[in-house]
Amino acid sequence: MKTPVKNKISQSVKEVPPALIREMSLKAAAYSNVISLGIGEPDFDTPEAVIRASMEDALRGHTHYTPSRGDEELIDALIAYIKVEKDIELEPNQLMVTHGGMGALIAALRAILDPEDEVIVFEPHFPSYKAQITFSGGRICYVSTRFEDGFIPDPRRVEKAITPRTKAMILNSPNNPTGATVPSGVLDELASIAVERDLIVISDEVYDKLVFKGSHDSLYKRPGMEQRTIVINSFSKTFAMTGWRIGYCYGPNVLIDQVLKVATYFTSCPSSIGQRAALAALKMDREIFVDMANEFKERCGLVYDRLKAIPGIRVHPSSGSFYVFPSVDSLTRDTMNFALELLDKEQVVVIPGEAFGPSGKGCIRISCTVGSNLLLEAMNRLERFVRNYYSS
Ligand code: PLP
Repeated sequence: MKTPVKNKISQSVKEVPPALIREMSLKAAAYSNVISLGIGEPDFDTPEAVIRASMEDALRGHTHYTPSRGDEELIDALIAYIKVEKDIELEPNQLMVTHGGMGALIAALRAILDPEDEVIVFEPHFPSYKAQITFSGGRICYVSTRFEDGFIPDPRRVEKAITPRTKAMILNSPNNPTGATVPSGVLDELASIAVERDLIVISDEVYDKLVFKGSHDSLYKRPGMEQRTIVINSFSKTFAMTGWRIGYCYGPNVLIDQVLKVATYFTSCPSSIGQRAALAALKMDREIFVDMANEFKERCGLVYDRLKAIPGIRVHPSSGSFYVFPSVDSLTRDTMNFALELLDKEQVVVIPGEAFGPSGKGCIRISCTVGSNLLLEAMNRLERFVRNYYSS
């Protein structure tokens, strides 16, 4: 008798559950009048100038494979951008363009992990890390962060989690889902640990332009970290370009060479017209993106103000990204059910915190990616829901 094909599916793929965030969107499709605070993408469209420039470039012939490292003009523009924005000087062989930030993450993990190697991940975390580590043959090693600490990583917990198999640590600041940014002092400590314990750091900085106070600080700038950090970044959030699928990463060329090898065999190169759009975004007056970042800050503030007035909800103000991650655990620990009931009774989509790791349970993720009026309406509905079903 033939073996059913289901039995042939890879163990590492089977053990990863389907993405809960996408599932919530599918469930929402059965309702009308839904306000979705579920998916993490800017509601702003890509500016028309960017779209036009890329289409014109396509008509001029930019429709072929580009070099695997990326369109040469885009690489030059990125190096100049990073120098101005971050005061970091890069050689062209230290940077590559990727299929979104996701493409950079998977290629970086695949380039460094051998079977059973461990990667430290602070949780709650961006769910793709777990899948990508598992698909690369590695093991995820959770270091919890807590609501009570504002979800800031505790370096002492990192020390305790390190084993002889620990190869890398992923740090994401500003953070999805918590909206926390890691303070400079904690970055100093994490960098010292990485140097002392010889760890590679993958610094996921895709929300670096959505910092609400001051500017983004990176571990990359700490002593010894240039030699061991791969910075992941993307056009998706900063430039409202999620669908164009353009990201990039940079780091020491010995690592980037291998990341490039993986990406080349996986995808040949990122989309040529997507790269031309990214180039146009870098060349244009970027005021419009600053306004967008300010709008996210305002919306997160507005949601924070509303949530903190709802009995039973605890919340920290977000310091970056476009997420707010309140705790509802004094109302219920079953946040999956809370989210499903909220959708059913009030047609508001939020993501249950357990989608982001065990410490997320008891919290919900709210994406402030609809306009203020709709956001206020969603808060009205959430408040009514809590008062109707959870007040004693
Ligand atoms: N990293 C984090 C923390 C994210 O939240 C996301 C997207 O939601 C990504 C990386 C990947 O973004 P993209 O592949 O669209 O560049």
